[in-house]
Amino acid sequence: MNDNINNMNVIRVYKFRIYPNSKAEAEIELQLKLSKEFYNLLLEKSINAYKEENKKISIIVLNKSAKEIEADKKFLQLYSQVRCEIKYRVLKAYKNFFRRVKENKSEKKVKVGFPRFKSRDRYYSITYPQDNGSFMIERKNKKHMLRVSRIGNMQIELHREIEGKIKTLTIKRKAGEHYAIFTTIREIELPKVEDTNPVGIDMGLDSFIALSDGTKVEKPKFEKKAEKHIARWQKIVAKRHKGSKRREKAKQQLQKKWEYIANQSIDFAHKLSDKLVNSGFTSFAVEDLHIQNMVKNHNLAQSIYNASWNKFMQMLSYKAESAGMKVIKVDARNTSKECSNCGNIQEMPLSERAYICNRCGLQIDRDINASINILHRATTLGQRESHAQEENVRPQKEAVFEELRTDKIHLLQNAIIA
Ligand SMILES: [Zn+2]
Repeated sequence: MNDNINNMNVIRVYKFRIYPNSKAEAEIELQLKLSKEFYNLLLEKSINAYKEENKKISIIVLNKSAKEIEADKKFLQLYSQVRCEIKYRVLKAYKNFFRRVKENKSEKKVKVGFPRFKSRDRYYSITYPQDNGSFMIERKNKKHMLRVSRIGNMQIELHREIEGKIKTLTIKRKAGEHYAIFTTIREIELPKVEDTNPVGIDMGLDSFIALSDGTKVEKPKFEKKAEKHIARWQKIVAKRHKGSKRREKAKQQLQKKWEYIANQSIDFAHKLSDKLVNSGFTSFAVEDLHIQNMVKNHNLAQSIYNASWNKFMQMLSYKAESAGMKVIKVDARNTSKECSNCGNIQEMPLSERAYICNRCGLQIDRDINASINILHRATTLGQRESHAQEENVRPQKEAVFEELRTDKIHLLQNAIIA
């Protein structure tokens, strides 16, 4: 029966509140300040290298610049691994920059700006990229303490057990609170599941999701509420004078609201994905949406929904895959316009809640119709065999680095998995 068992590495992310005392907090502040300076100097040097010598920024160029910057001994207060990770952040910012330059060349758009320098409130985390003794968790009088090199001991609220081998630690300061974020890796055995009950999932128009078995799941209420609060605080921030204390305070409030939604959507996504993985389905067909483009949406409500949905997809993917079930992504084009009964394609304005086929007469909820189409497409893909396997959605390896992005939407989108 060994043929039926596959092994896979599962990467998970855990986020816990930590409570540094004033000394440790001051250390974190110092580390963040130095990291920000180090980052900005690296960026400056590489922008110059790029402008003057037209050099593409590589890790070799960055290593050389880092050496020069480290001549100022104050940067040696940063743990060497932390400095190393900062190079990768700069490298990543450049990769995005070069990608945008390339995209713009092909689309002939306006000039792309260099990666931006970071201000204090845009640099809020440091990462220890390897567990090599630079941090550890200890138990002390029923409390858990996190000991981190160069920072010290802090109480940690370990509300769930960490499974697997810890790979990285990120210390994050957000809206006046501190968090420790761990990524872990664990090898698990995958049972082979006979795919007898596949289901299609549509990102609904007036529901959160619609399933090909006819089920619809409502959009969570917190989204509406959050949208109101965020719009309100965005306005307040905009009205206040740049650099003023009051503006800073309003910005913190806004950040708190985003954190609140991030936590709510994690909770919602956990519950819904658990439910789906345990309701007897054996595989999941979903739309292959380009999240990057989705996030660029300027409509606040839609951005919040997209982010929640993406969170949900990530969770469904890793939970389903860990249970030996496939998640198959399919082309999302025309899933709403196509008749799931006869294949007819007709226009479907957003105001139409029902699909009424003008060829075969089918009458069906528009989102359910789309979810059946999604299921059909996955089945067709499955028949072309080898493809389906490749379409498996894997938990994002870069989760920890994604976490570092400062854009509020990305914060939500990449809010922690576990
Ligand atoms: Zn039809």
